[in-house]
This record gives sequence, structure tokens and C-alpha cells, in this order.
Amino acid sequence: MKAGPLAAWIAVGVISLQSGTLQIAHSAQCESPFQQRGYYITFMRMPTYDLADWRGIVDGIQRDNGNTLLLWIGGGFRSARFPVTWQYNKDHANIQHDFVRELIDYAHTRGIKVLLAFTPFGYDGVNQFPLEHPELRAIAKDGKPVEKFGIHCWGYNLCPSQPASQQFMLDYAREMFFDFYPNADGLMIESSDYAICHCEQCRGKFFEREFAFVKQISAEVWAKKPEATVVVYPHYFSGSQVPGLDARAAREKFDPRWTLFFTPHSAHLDAELIRQAKASLWSDDKPALHLPEDIRAGAQRAKAAGITGYIPSLEAFSFTPYEAEEGQPWLQGKRQIPLGFGWLPPGDAPYDALPMQVNRIAYREFTCNPDLSMEEFKTRLGREVFGDRSTSTSVDDLLALQAIFFTDRTWCMGAPLAMPERIDMQYRQLPPEKRRHYARQLESAEQIEKKYRDARGNGELQMHDITKWLVDQWTPARRKLLDVEN
Ligand SMILES: [Zn+2]
Repeated sequence: MKAGPLAAWIAVGVISLQSGTLQIAHSAQCESPFQQRGYYITFMRMPTYDLADWRGIVDGIQRDNGNTLLLWIGGGFRSARFPVTWQYNKDHANIQHDFVRELIDYAHTRGIKVLLAFTPFGYDGVNQFPLEHPELRAIAKDGKPVEKFGIHCWGYNLCPSQPASQQFMLDYAREMFFDFYPNADGLMIESSDYAICHCEQCRGKFFEREFAFVKQISAEVWAKKPEATVVVYPHYFSGSQVPGLDARAAREKFDPRWTLFFTPHSAHLDAELIRQAKASLWSDDKPALHLPEDIRAGAQRAKAAGITGYIPSLEAFSFTPYEAEEGQPWLQGKRQIPLGFGWLPPGDAPYDALPMQVNRIAYREFTCNPDLSMEEFKTRLGREVFGDRSTSTSVDDLLALQAIFFTDRTWCMGAPLAMPERIDMQYRQLPPEKRRHYARQLESAEQIEKKYRDARGNGELQMHDITKWLVDQWTPARRKLLDVEN
């Protein structure tokens, strides 16, 4: 990672904090309702970052008052037993030179626990196994073997009723935790949100089958490391309809040593289970895709549910798609631009860039106090970014800039204003009100660029540099695409 102006800005912030000039909340001052704070990050889909970059990311989690990192590792380590699981990801820095054990040690020096995340019988790494063992493919509703699916890592989910699938999952997870990263603090076993198996043996029993693996690997992990955290989905215990899937959850006995994981799209809150669990995490997409007020709402929702932790996604992809991600063939072969922040060099992690800093400060403030008013948040945000020069106008400009980069951003595509190819490719489907909205945002970016041209402070300079980059993407021909008459 290069120490560019953004890194310098962070350093200034830290120095200011130490000299006591900023009223920044940090662990010593914070009485957060959440014991577990931090982020869910899809490490395997970020091939371009090395150990130095990841140390920087961990430092950032600490600055955000976090203590937990859900590190999605499936497909992102060089399995010796199952090389097929990482062939698609050969250019990943950790496949080239394994560093995650060192990263975990480093995280511990920062007070951050690392849980290794993967999906049983599906998703990255695991879904490559059926390339060599097609007989293990899950069965779709129509009775045929499932089609290829994935994000970055395209493959097939497995049928958990097949003993060979169970054996593979156990051996892969054992290798991950016991052989590669025994210093990790536990596992995060993320049940699939896209598919189950409909074969005769799985029908009506899918989550009982998946649970057989979950129960076994949990027991093995606790036998070696009794204090380990094992995060699981409620789908094995609640008996209720599983969101997004045509299946009911199992009704297995809940062991209170498990930590439960709830999300808005795939695992709805369950008060009875939350009460039984030693810990329970709420995870949504607010800091990755939305605005500070949405992060506030996410923290409030978690607090109201009596959840012990709020660990939202902070995914930022840097892989090169080989399939049509999100149904967009034009993305194939072009490296993903993390968060749509196209001004950053490809090897730089995007989390310290100003538009994401806004969300990280929001995350830190609202996990500290979910009921903090937006007005007070803006005051703190301004003080942190602009120091003594902060005004209500500069904070409004900053929030306008942040909103530009988070308007209609998707997991695989930057906001349309930051990624004009999106409008090149999709403009025929663009409703007039969207065009007007983007045109207004572009105008506001131009005004910010002009206003901060002679800026002195670091925050203001970044406002200028980022809007300058954005405005420069918009050639006259592209601007025409935003005209409602076109
Ligand atoms: Zn099956």
C-alpha cells in the first residue's frame, strides 16, 4: 500500500486525537450497547491486497472501535488437500504467498478477533469441488442438477446428503482452521442465501443435513479450543420459513455456546433464539452500500432486537470477473474497482478514501450510541474531517459527495456517476427521473470541485481531488446521456 494523501490525512487525524483537539469517540469513551463490533469482509474476492494492506485494514477496524473481523477465507487460501478450490483465484495475494496466519497475529495485537468465514456446501472455494466431482452437485427444484452460480467464484453447490460432500466439507474446514490458521478465534459458518438441494434425500430435510456438518465441525473446534467462537445461522433451530428459500429451518437442539447470525435478507431476527445464545450478531449492508442515516437505522434495529453485536458488511471487490456478474457481460475481464473509487491505484484498499471514511465514522459513532442525533453526528464528522475549519456547508458538501458514490452502487458496480460505463451500457433502461437525479448530482460535484480548488486543509483537498476525478469522467458525449430528451 502506498502512503498517499489519504493515508496522510488519517495520520493527521490520529495525531489530532492524541493531542486532544478532536472529540473523537473511541473505546475508552464509548459505552456501546454492542459487545461485538467490526466488519464482515470477503477477503477471497480481494486478490490485490497483500499483508501490508491488510494490516492497514485491521488498523482501520481498530480506529472504528471494532474488535471483530469476519474474514471470508473460503477459496482464498492455498488448500493442499483440495487445490481445485483456489485454481480460479490463483492471482490472489494470499494464494501466491500465504499471510493470513501473520495477519491474525497482527489483529490480536490490535485487540481484534478474527473468525474464518465460509459457506457449507456452497459459495467460494467449496463450489469448485463439483468441477472434479459432478456427481455431488445439488439438485434444483426441477429435478435436474443445479446450474452454475457464484460471485467471482462460479461453481455448483453440493448435495449435503451425499457422504462424500460431508467428508469434503469436514476436511476442507479442518484444513482451514487446524492446519492453516489455528490462531484464528473461531469460525463463521454462513449458510447459503441462494440455493438448497431438492434431491429425494434432502427434500424437507436440507437443514438437518447441513447441520450434521455444522455440529461436527463445531464439536471439533471446541475440543481443541474451548473458548473459540462459532457463528451459525438460525436455520438449524428456529423451525420457521427460511427467507429467500423454499425451505423450513430444522428444529435441532441449540447449544448456547453458538453465536447466532441474523441478516435482513437471509436470516430474520428471532427473539427466542437470541435470548438463548451466548452472543448474536446483526449484519446488514449499510456501511458498504448506503448512507450514514441508514447505518444509524441499522444500529438502532440491532439494539432494539437485543442483539449483542453489529457486524455489517464492508465488502469491496477487486477481482477480475470471468462470468457475467450481476447479469452484466460487459464487466467480464475488467478488474472490479473497489467501491467504485476509480481514482485509487489498483493495489490500494479503498477504506481510507473520504466517501468511505464518512460511513466508517458513522459506524463508529452509531455503534457507540445508536440514538445519537444526525445533527450531533454531522458536528463530529465535520470536526474530524475539517478540524477547526468545519462549517455546516462543508459538512453538507461532504455528505453530498458521499451520497454520489453510494447512490445506486451495487456489489459489483460503482455508483453510475462514478462509473459512467454503466450509463453507456444501460442508458436505454434509465428512467427520466434517474437521469435528472444523476445530472443534479453531477452539477453538485462540479460546484464542490470549484469551491475547494484553492483549499488548504487535507479534508478540503480531498473533496477537490475526488470531485475533479469524477467530473473528468464526464465527457460532453457522456453528459448527453443524462439529457432527458435522449
Ligand atoms: Zn441433496
